[in-house]
Amino acid sequence: MLFKKHVSSMERNQMIDITKLVRDCIKESNTKNGIAIVFCPHTTGAITINENCDRDVQIDMITHLEKVFPNSREFMHFEGNSDSHLKSTTVGASENIIIHNGDLLLGTWQGIYFCEFDGPRERTFYVKVQ
Ligand code: ZN
Repeated sequence: MLFKKHVSSMERNQMIDITKLVRDCIKESNTKNGIAIVFCPHTTGAITINENCDRDVQIDMITHLEKVFPNSREFMHFEGNSDSHLKSTTVGASENIIIHNGDLLLGTWQGIYFCEFDGPRERTFYVKVQ
């Protein structure tokens, strides 16, 4: 089954926990064992899995991605958001998660995140459950 989900970002760079939204797709599909592909169809967004316990991890990642990829006047792209495109490509457009016994096989401290790199915006992501 294919699910289309929506999130709203509030900041230019932000990590939004979408673990529950993905879990809801697994339940709705009634899949006991399989795989979930979470995919971001935007060129300035991304999907990643990382720590869901200490919120400072997300802040550190965003802060340091901004340092690694600052918005530079050297960029040629007419939109002026090449830093956003670089962050998107670095983090990646999708994640694959094993479904085991009807739930996501995530580590205790893992969550799934939609990464916004050019917000605030209304965003979409897809979950393919097989
Ligand atoms: Zn652009």
